[in-house]
Amino acid sequence: MTKPFKTLDDMGDITGKCVLVREDLNVPMQDHAVSDDTRLRAAAPTILELADRGAKVLILAHFGRPKGQKSPETSLSLVTRALTHVLGRDVQFIPECVGEGAAAGIAVMQPGDIAILENTRFHLGEEKNDPALVAGMAALGDLYVNDAFSAAHRAHASTEGLAHKLPAFAGRSMEKELDALEAALGNPQKPVAAVVGGAKVSTKLDVLNNLVTQVDHLIIGGGMANTFLHARGVDVGKSLCEKDLAETAEAIFAKAEAAGCTIHLPYDVVVAKEFAANPPSVRTCNVHEVAADEMILDVGPAAVEALGDALKNCRTLVWNGPLGAFEIPPFDAATVALARTAAALTKEGSLVSVAGGGDTVAALNHAGVAGDFTFVSTAGGAFLEWMEGKELPGVKALIG
Ligand code: ADP
Ligand code: MG
Repeated sequence: MTKPFKTLDDMGDITGKCVLVREDLNVPMQDHAVSDDTRLRAAAPTILELADRGAKVLILAHFGRPKGQKSPETSLSLVTRALTHVLGRDVQFIPECVGEGAAAGIAVMQPGDIAILENTRFHLGEEKNDPALVAGMAALGDLYVNDAFSAAHRAHASTEGLAHKLPAFAGRSMEKELDALEAALGNPQKPVAAVVGGAKVSTKLDVLNNLVTQVDHLIIGGGMANTFLHARGVDVGKSLCEKDLAETAEAIFAKAEAAGCTIHLPYDVVVAKEFAANPPSVRTCNVHEVAADEMILDVGPAAVEALGDALKNCRTLVWNGPLGAFEIPPFDAATVALARTAAALTKEGSLVSVAGGGDTVAALNHAGVAGDFTFVSTAGGAFLEWMEGKELPGVKALIG
């Protein structure tokens, strides 16, 4: 199947060419060292492939929120050593991302060399997608590769503007992410199920509204299920619940019904009187039996089993948000059980499973199954906007 965007396969001979590559190098730091190099490892295949094909690889990225102010704490020089380590290659650092300073550093590079250019957000024009900054950066390169899906929901100079100025290609990491998202919601095998959990309905209204028109089964868990249960007249006691969103929840029920989407809410739940690890008050009950001083903290075992059975009849799953307060035992049980079912179905080959979201990734790691899903996105905001059905500017610019 031809892709709606160009990839590294379409670049032709790039020997000696200057390739500007937008990567996500926004890694967490602790004591001046990179504390999690996941993003660097995701960037590696594209960087190494371009270098091996003889390009001069010029990496563009943002780091932190310097808001146009240069500062040593947000200099990408702090990431150079960690990237060198991940790539197993020398990585140079060029202390500018535009202008003569950058050009001078690039001029001495040889084919196959790799350099990180300084933080794009040291320039206010980055977040404003300022044409002058775009033109200045474009002047440094012959070709542009966007490999940072996680930054593609922003129309910034290095994520969007450059794609209109230079021949533009998706990097390997971007390509993998777009392929997975296409398989999950763009053109999925049906039936499609979505799990949406997490704390609050208000943060995922757009996600819910989009999904009811896209999927056959919408499984609602987490704190947000309480808001839907409350809207249906269930007394949820002391649970986290956005009572003012009852009408909104009703509108989502109606939209789902019109679209032929089945909404699944828990019919048994795990409750406790306090939010603590293994509290003495923990018990499992029917949703209609929650006492006034109890909180719903997880989906119950009977409901989870039924959800697992529903997944067995589905071909595609997209998952964002844990089913319960998974950070604290035993309220991780439902998330872990359903994640393991989804992982097993994926391994059997009957399910395409795509998940994303900060806490979701943590929960799947906790369940030990992140590696068994078809694809797990670490993109955060960009993943959520994609689940909301929004067009991501950085992706749109690649599609042309
Ligand atoms: P993600 O980061 O994957 O998008 P969210 O941030 O939306 O996920 O939701 C995760 C949070 O939801 C977790 O901190 C979890 O404890 C909380 N949560 C899940 N279920 C409940 C519940 N029943 N009551 C309170 N908080 C919950
Ligand atoms: Mg979160």
